[in-house]
Amino acid sequence: MIDFQAIIEGISNNLQSVYDRGDVATYIPELAKADKNKFGIHLIDSSNNNFSSGDSEEAFSIQSISKVLSLAQAFGKVGDQLWKRVGVEPSGDPFNHLSLLEMENGIPRNPLINAGALVVCDVLISHFDNPKDDFLSYVRRISNEPEIYYDEKVAQSEKRSGFNNYAAAYLLKSYGNLKNDVETVLDFYFHQCSLTMSCRQLAKLFYIFMNKGKCLQGQAYLSINQVKRINAIMLTCGFYDEAGEFAFEVGLPGKSGVGGGIVALLPNKFCVVTWSPGLNPKGNSKLGMLALEQLTSKTGLSIF
Ligand code: GLU
Repeated sequence: MIDFQAIIEGISNNLQSVYDRGDVATYIPELAKADKNKFGIHLIDSSNNNFSSGDSEEAFSIQSISKVLSLAQAFGKVGDQLWKRVGVEPSGDPFNHLSLLEMENGIPRNPLINAGALVVCDVLISHFDNPKDDFLSYVRRISNEPEIYYDEKVAQSEKRSGFNNYAAAYLLKSYGNLKNDVETVLDFYFHQCSLTMSCRQLAKLFYIFMNKGKCLQGQAYLSINQVKRINAIMLTCGFYDEAGEFAFEVGLPGKSGVGGGIVALLPNKFCVVTWSPGLNPKGNSKLGMLALEQLTSKTGLSIF
């Protein structure tokens, strides 16, 4: 039996001496306030045993990690039709590149780059009367954490500085791949990205991707096949243009965000979340990558 608590405490201790913690994202001014000395980790296993260390109870901005959740809600709602409007190939480009979108006639490469996530938001807006409320209650229900909230300051901060996302949305619109108006789609997207929660809450939420689509309460949100597809997309597209490096170092499907969070999972075994706001040049949490590499190397547990 693996002693996860001892392992993650050992990892936390090892990381305390790491001098270069990367840089906090500043292009969304509200995120620049994060303290890069923070580090938290929470692991939940398939039997709902919980292990944590460091700042695992502190709420942070999950940013792009939310794209997996909106994808799950949209895929659960419209099924395979979704793939007519967004692809499933890694882009090999940073999350906000627009050149590919032009080359590929307005069909984003995958749902985890910004343009793809905007199409997913558009799908949700078309299918729900109150998409922001419905998305928030979906997230609260799956995690059984009614306190999870949108951070209005972060959403507004990004609205004021998110010119690249405006560009992507207008480009999608020009190709006919946004049905709703640009402002509505971006408002939904900025709120989705502003979701704020702790490592522990996020691990409970992503339990469904580890547990064949069922949450901790046993309710099914996705079919086994849908979870297979979402995990495949996380593995190949979840880390900007560093998905190959993450698979090589860590060997788990996962998703990162510019708030410094990373979630990763081993199907049927565990789901783990790290948070440390300092990012490497590709936009992934510096300490988070190191921590997860140590976790899978020390335990010998990965999908490979
Ligand atoms: N809201 C951020 C953006 O669109 C998300 C970036 C990220 O976490 O990758 O720029």
